[in-house]
Amino acid sequence: MKFNKSHLFFLLKIISVVLFVIISIFLFIKRDRKNPISAYFSTRCIDYRQKDFSRKLNDRIVDYSAAAKLRGIGICKDADDLKKKISEGKLVKVKSGSRYIVEKMSFSYPCITGDSKILLDEIAGRFSLKASQKGLNGVKFYITSMTRKADNVKSLRKFNGNASANSPHLYGNAFDISYKRFVARKWVLTNCDKRFLKDALGEVIWQLRSENKCWATHEKMQNCYHVVTR
Ligand SMILES: [Zn+2]
Repeated sequence: MKFNKSHLFFLLKIISVVLFVIISIFLFIKRDRKNPISAYFSTRCIDYRQKDFSRKLNDRIVDYSAAAKLRGIGICKDADDLKKKISEGKLVKVKSGSRYIVEKMSFSYPCITGDSKILLDEIAGRFSLKASQKGLNGVKFYITSMTRKADNVKSLRKFNGNASANSPHLYGNAFDISYKRFVARKWVLTNCDKRFLKDALGEVIWQLRSENKCWATHEKMQNCYHVVTR
């Protein structure tokens, strides 16, 4: 088909109508985060005054590693050992879903103990509810680390001096959640939104810590919350 002037004119007309509709929606809808269209386009800062919960998450490995070890699995020597623990049901695989994204992991495997999976889903559920109450719908966080094998810790120590030879990640009951990156059903996720999401996630983890469900540490070097099932 030949593309002539009338086609171009028609195309421009369609583009202008679409632009007109978008601008009208943006200008005339109620500026309220409860309105899903308004919330989707909103660039306003969420009014959310709360204590800095992330700073309160400061459990030290030395204080809980013995207890975490008792509740976790035996250290996996190699990949075969890890697969065996999955087939025995001691570890369960974790896949990306509607509330979190499992990142590609270089030094660990996307599996944790059954109890840890329940805790992870509880964190995700409470976080999602908290965010949606403020007009941020469809939020997801990134899980950056889960269960490590013995040799993973050795390799990791070359990059991260904090990686402990006694890391709870070896016992299958620890996972790391990034507090820097999030996904939400929004046109643009502003820095303000991200700050709110970091605080909201910190608060949810703090609540679960207060309920004796976990130990948790705000890992500034890794930009993540390190959570261990209790
Ligand atoms: Zn960790």
